[in-house]
Amino acid sequence: TIGMIALDANGKLSGACTTSGMAFKMHGRVGDSPIIGAGLYVDNEVGAACSTGLGEAVIRTVGSHLVVELMRQGMSPQKACVTAVERIKKKYPGYDKIQVGFLALNKKGEYGAYAIQKGFNYAVYSNSVQNKLFDAKSSM
Ligand code: ASP
Repeated sequence: TIGMIALDANGKLSGACTTSGMAFKMHGRVGDSPIIGAGLYVDNEVGAACSTGLGEAVIRTVGSHLVVELMRQGMSPQKACVTAVERIKKKYPGYDKIQVGFLALNKKGEYGAYAIQKGFNYAVYSNSVQNKLFDAKSSM
């Protein structure tokens, strides 16, 4: 999945995501990317989040919506991503072998990301950070 979340100069949040789906997927499978709240969620009162990885795990937890709701309760984007990933790992024990990751941004422009496995890289562009690349797993 490629997800993008943004905060513009007027303080408005937006987001988009796309996916090629999973390898060897069943014909007709719908992943998390086209489902609002799963692969992507933007609430202009709070923040935005998007996901990557096993869509079934993200759909079952309405993952991106969960991350935004955790930010609404006061969590930082980083803490919200970690909490959502930990919930998936706890709820679905076999899922710690797979990849699920979230990227989040709040109204203040703070961002965070976390994934079960290494390899979820994301880039940040802002007035202070220009095109810096991070690995979500090791950014803690
Ligand atoms: N989240 C996607 C899906 O389950 C897979 C991906 O990360 O591209 O369809």
